Amino acid sequence: AIGKTKTTDKADRATVEQAIDQNTRKILYKMLNKGVFDAINGCISTGKEANVYHATKSHGQELAIKIYKTSVLEFKDKGRYMQGDYRYSNGCGKHNPREMARKWAEKEIRNLMRLKAAGIRCPTTSCNLRRLHIVVMEFIGKSGWAAPRLKDAALSSDKLREGYVEIIIAMRTLYQKCKLVHGDLSEYNILYYEGHLYIIDVSQAVEHEHPHALDFLREDCVHVSDFFKKHGVAVMTIRELFDFIVDATIADDAVDSYLEEMQRKILARGDVSVEDEIADSVFVQSFIPRTLDDVENAEEDVQQITNLKDTNDLYYLTITGLKHALSLTQSTQQNTQQQKSSAT
Ligand code: ADP
Ligand code: MG
Repeated sequence: AIGKTKTTDKADRATVEQAIDQNTRKILYKMLNKGVFDAINGCISTGKEANVYHATKSHGQELAIKIYKTSVLEFKDKGRYMQGDYRYSNGCGKHNPREMARKWAEKEIRNLMRLKAAGIRCPTTSCNLRRLHIVVMEFIGKSGWAAPRLKDAALSSDKLREGYVEIIIAMRTLYQKCKLVHGDLSEYNILYYEGHLYIIDVSQAVEHEHPHALDFLREDCVHVSDFFKKHGVAVMTIRELFDFIVDATIADDAVDSYLEEMQRKILARGDVSVEDEIADSVFVQSFIPRTLDDVENAEEDVQQITNLKDTNDLYYLTITGLKHALSLTQSTQQNTQQQKSSAT
C-alpha cells in the first residue's frame, strides 16, 4: 500500500508541474473573458521558473503568455538579483513563492516597457497585461512559429556580424538610457526575428545602481562575446566591450564612428595576443569598483593618473567618470601654464 501511495504522489506532482494549476487557470479564464486573448493554443517553452504559451485573439493577433511558477522550489537562483534592489529590499514576501512570482512578473513588465521606451527591440507589453504572476506580451514570431533563439538561429557570417553590432548597441542603450543591466543576457535570451535581435526574459534585470550591477554586466559581456566569437565574429575584448557600454562620454551620434574605429583596431591587431588574452581574463575575474569610494587606494591611483603615468590598468576610469573629469582638469592646467608663460 505504501508503494502505491508513493507512485500516486509522484504522478500527482508531475501533473501539477506540467499542467496549469487551478488558481492560474481561474485567472486565465478571467483574462479570456475580459478579451485579453481568445484562445491559448499550446506551450512554447517550459522553463525552471516559468512556462510560456502561445495565444491568439479572434482577429488573429498572436500573443505570448508567460506564467511564472508559484511552487515553493523555483526561485532559489534569483536571490542575487533581488538583494540590493531598493525596489524590493523591504524583504516582504521573500519566502512566499506566490508573492515572489508576482514580483518577477511585475518586474518583467516594467523592464520590458523601459526597454521599449528606449527603442530596444523586445516584446511589446503594458501594465494592464499582467494579472498576478501572469504576463501577456507580443509574440515574437509568426503563424504559431516562435522566432528562434539566437542559439538556434543558424545565421550567416554577415548576419552574425550585424547581430553582434546590434546587440552591443542595445546593451549600451540598456545601460545608458534604461539604467538597467540585463543580468542573464546570452544566446538563450535573444530571439532572431526578421533580420533583427530581440531581447527577452528581463525580469531579473537590475538597476545600474545595484551593488552587483557591474559584475552582472561583465558576465553579460562574456556570454554575448563568447557566442559571437565562437561563431567567427571578430569581437572586442571583454574590457573593450564593457568600456563601450559604460562610457558616458561617447555621444549618441558618435557611437557609429566609435565602433568603426574599434573595428579597425580589431582587424589591425589580428589574433588577440596572449598578453591581451591574459589581461582580459584578469579583467573578467577582478572586482569592479563602482565609485571612487569603493577603491581602496584611490588616492594613490589619482596621483598616478595626474602624473600621466601608465593608466592602462585603471580600468575603472570610465566607470567613475574620472576619465572625463581628468581631461577637463588637464586642459585647465594647460591653459594656466600657457597663461603663465605668456605673462612672463
Ligand atoms: P525563462 O528562460 O525564464 O524560462 P523566457 O522569457 O526566456 O523564460 O522564455 C522562454 C522561451 O520562450 C524563450 O527562449 C523563447 O523561446 C520563448 N519566448 C518567450 N517570450 C516569447 C515571445 N514574446 N515571443 C516568442 N517566444 C517567446
Ligand atoms: Mg530565458
